[in-house]
Amino acid sequence: GVDLTGRVVLVTGGARGLGEAYVRGLHDAGARVVVADVLVDQGRALAAELGEGARFEELDVTDEAAWERVVERTAGDLGGVDVLVNNAGIANAAPIEHLTLAKWEAVMAVNATGTFLGCRAVVPVMKAAGRGSIVNISSVEGKRGSPRLHGYTASKFAVLGLTKSLAVELGPSGIRVNSVHPGLVLTDMSVKIDPERLDIPLGRPGLPQDVVGAVLFLASDASSWVSGAEIVADGGMIA
Ligand code: NAD
Repeated sequence: GVDLTGRVVLVTGGARGLGEAYVRGLHDAGARVVVADVLVDQGRALAAELGEGARFEELDVTDEAAWERVVERTAGDLGGVDVLVNNAGIANAAPIEHLTLAKWEAVMAVNATGTFLGCRAVVPVMKAAGRGSIVNISSVEGKRGSPRLHGYTASKFAVLGLTKSLAVELGPSGIRVNSVHPGLVLTDMSVKIDPERLDIPLGRPGLPQDVVGAVLFLASDASSWVSGAEIVADGGMIA
């Protein structure tokens, strides 16, 4: 497996679901992991279970000032931020006539603006170190259109576009920026989706563990010449 010994990795939305799986995988690979989430009890419990090399930070990714605080504390205590995984996200689904402005704004705020704020907050620390890896979690819905997912799709395409521009701008500073596009993964977010309705060539929906390898690869030096890339992990669904 990949070796992330001593690397400092911050995972947003790390308290449950896919984020929790990334946290566990990164910790197993030797990284010092910061679980950042609005879910305080679950995030604290996860960090406590992992013990040494894991800590929890309360973070709402839409809160600009909170980002500054969390990055400052992490860099101050742990010596830097080597990897940021922008995973926090929310979904909503409605036919366009029923998509309220409030729902549109909420999904854009967490998925798109939250990812922007995270990238912006860690860049000075990564520039100072002369290296860094940012892994932005988009979705298969950040690569194609789907009914009822307008706000979600727009926010996940925004993540892809942000990733591409940052990869170009930050490459000369030694910072790599890539995106991961999971397909249907069984978590709290996807409970309403019936996997039987989807045509998944590999024959099953994903489990959070199925996406961990993509994140580990992009976090580690195994991907040292990879930037601006998209890794789709979807069982072949959008091939
Ligand atoms: P989930 O709902 O189980 O977990 C999302 C996590 O993000 C939760 O811990 C939640 O507390 C946290 N979060 C939400 N809003 C936040 C905020 N404002 N600030 C900080 N944390 C916040 O969902 P999941 O399925 O694990 O999804 C994780 C990511 O993967 C999301 O970005 C999602 O869009 C993406 N994704 C999921 C699937 C899927 O099928 N489950 C597919 C493609 C992409």
